[in-house]
Amino acid sequence: MELLAGQTAIVTGAASPRGLGKATARLFASHGAKVAILDLDPRDAETAAEDVGQGAIGMACDVTDKAACDAAAAAVVGKLGGIDILVNNAGITQPLKIMTIAPENYDAVLDVNLRGTLYMSQAVIPHMRERKSGSIVNISSVSAQRGGGIFGGPHYSAAKAGILGLTKAMARELAPDGIRSNAVCPGFIATDITAGKLTEEMRRDILEGIPMGRTGTAEDVAGCCLFLASELSAYVTGSEVDVNGGSLIH
Ligand code: NAP
Repeated sequence: MELLAGQTAIVTGAASPRGLGKATARLFASHGAKVAILDLDPRDAETAAEDVGQGAIGMACDVTDKAACDAAAAAVVGKLGGIDILVNNAGITQPLKIMTIAPENYDAVLDVNLRGTLYMSQAVIPHMRERKSGSIVNISSVSAQRGGGIFGGPHYSAAKAGILGLTKAMARELAPDGIRSNAVCPGFIATDITAGKLTEEMRRDILEGIPMGRTGTAEDVAGCCLFLASELSAYVTGSEVDVNGGSLIH
């Protein structure tokens, strides 16, 4: 059964080959959606779109650039005919301690994760409002809920916690327009965001904290994004869905 037949979706930061965004784009496409993959490098975005197939398109968009977000949203409407779903997935992290966060670290991490989520949402909301329909899925993190402790520093936890607040405030404000807004909070998922940066000891400690005894996969996260994007979650808004193997149960 195709859950997104006839729908169109934007996934930001979706060019990373082993990333959560690309797995989400692939699953959406396999459920009948036309997908726009946005990322920093236009060639990477196009390559990812070719790989996903099913009419997916790739284009450059730095989510920290408001004009670029507006232009990308307009281009997607022009090429795919509309935007039903936005997944704000672009994100970066840095393993810093509180006293080593320099102003440029704060700016980089807050800008991509939080400002980018705001700007890209602002870029699609007028279009979704016009059509009285839409689903926005924001990728937060278990780090927001438990105060880090896996890889990202306190500024990453703060950015991802900011995303939770933004998600819920958008849910409240946009519900009368038929637009839903939800967050996904992944636990530890092995992707390039931490690739080569984890010691064996860190990996062992992480596994010890996961009741299900394994790290997550990009597909584990994609499945929850599909649920939140589709009509299966028609009455769900303002929620945070945990995808963490039980590493945080609250
Ligand atoms: P990833 O493989 O590093 O993918 C992130 C993508 O975002 C990359 O393609 C990156 O491009 C792109 N990007 C960076 N800055 C951007 C910008 N300004 N505008 C547009 N795109 C930008 O990471 P991932 O693990 O798939 O993570 C995806 C999301 O899940 C992130 O928000 C992350 O914080 C979140 N998350 C991940 C985990 C995990 O364990 N992996 C856990 C919780 C939450 P470049 O490669 O060119 O920089």
